[in-house]
Amino acid sequence: MSHVFHRSLTASYPVAMGGDGPYLIDADGKLYLDACGGAAVSCLGHSDAAVIAAVQRQIATLAYAHSSFFTSEPMEQLADFLVARAPAGIDSVYFVSGGSEAVESALKMARQYFVERGQPQRRHVIARRQSYHGNTLGALATGGNAWRRQQFEPLLIGVTHVSPCYAWRDQQAHETDGDYVTRLGQELEDHIAALGADNVMAFIAEPVVGATAGALPAVAGYFARMREICQRHGILLILDEVMCGMGRTGSLFACEQEGITADLVCIAKGLGAGYQPIGAVMVSTDIRDTIRAGTGFFQHGHTYIGHATACAAALAVQRQIEERDLLANVRAMGGLLQERLRQRFDSHAHVGDIRGRGLFLGLELVRDRNTKQPFAPARRLHARIKTQAMQAGLMCYPMGGTIDGLHGDHILLAPPYIIDASHVDEIVDKLGAAIDACVA
Ligand code: PMP
Repeated sequence: MSHVFHRSLTASYPVAMGGDGPYLIDADGKLYLDACGGAAVSCLGHSDAAVIAAVQRQIATLAYAHSSFFTSEPMEQLADFLVARAPAGIDSVYFVSGGSEAVESALKMARQYFVERGQPQRRHVIARRQSYHGNTLGALATGGNAWRRQQFEPLLIGVTHVSPCYAWRDQQAHETDGDYVTRLGQELEDHIAALGADNVMAFIAEPVVGATAGALPAVAGYFARMREICQRHGILLILDEVMCGMGRTGSLFACEQEGITADLVCIAKGLGAGYQPIGAVMVSTDIRDTIRAGTGFFQHGHTYIGHATACAAALAVQRQIEERDLLANVRAMGGLLQERLRQRFDSHAHVGDIRGRGLFLGLELVRDRNTKQPFAPARRLHARIKTQAMQAGLMCYPMGGTIDGLHGDHILLAPPYIIDASHVDEIVDKLGAAIDACVA
């Protein structure tokens, strides 16, 4: 028996031994096309020579220096790189080791910002019912994923949830996008009014929802409206781009496509592409200046902040993406993959919706396509598709989410930015066969 406390204590896993571009290889030499980047992590594939060389160089020079004693060249260079390409108004970066840490840090930074400004009563967070922001206690309290939360309730911080922007289920036939945005905006306004605007610290949302929705973008104008409402009430906007950021949707930051900026932007997965664990919070000038003029330091910290080898890996990853113009490939292959998925599944009895942006695409599976009635949760369809696809040598990220009491089986696709048309065909063929075998 394994002595590792794996997530599932009853499952057995193949042993990953190596990687070759978009493929992982197990101990038997079997290849798996990584069509989900693990969990939207491995955006450069698994054997990028330039990143491996950068990690080797850095680890041989300076593996790590604690950030309360030193800064380091890779940390400074990575911050410069990110800020030069960041949404307007962002001018510093707080480095952490992953997505949950980024969200925790953003929440505490928002809180300290208001304490420093003499508004300590602003501590309430508004999030959306369809969201995942991480598994540490603060991030878990923020996310709306009922299944992940239920065993740990009551959670520790004050969060309430509003509706997501889930047009496929929620937008009414008579509603234009504009009407729908107006309705969701009014809901947020009412929610803020009920809490008292002066008590609200932040609104947090994923620009393209990942783990609870299988790549769900908002309708046009939604985020601009949310931003405007937050600004008017002095509420900070935290964008969780842990999954959808760093090029995944075809632009470096997903919020670029919404034409908005934010006060805090959390990034992780694609930042280091899995070559090292790293995440970050991109911080607005106002928040940085307020904390600098107040106590002068952020009352937070982790041992591995700005880990030199992790920063060197992330810098190499980001340079590769830029130098090889991989975001153009994300847009081209994303378009092709979406087109092929539509050809394969548009008249499929159990594929209700195909959605997403760039190489961040999702399928929502339903028992009845006309009524959108989901499969029974006990069937665990998403998990069975994952197993079936793995047998065929395809990794896809399955999710069963419950929102407003309604179960949803989703498949998330987030392949590496380096894929070509032959990989697109392999994904669609193997995924189609896996879905057909499981819904039959
Ligand atoms: N936010 C989002 C949007 C995520 O998708 C995830 C991970 N799936 C997290 C936060 C948490 O990141 P991590 O698992 O690196 O802690």
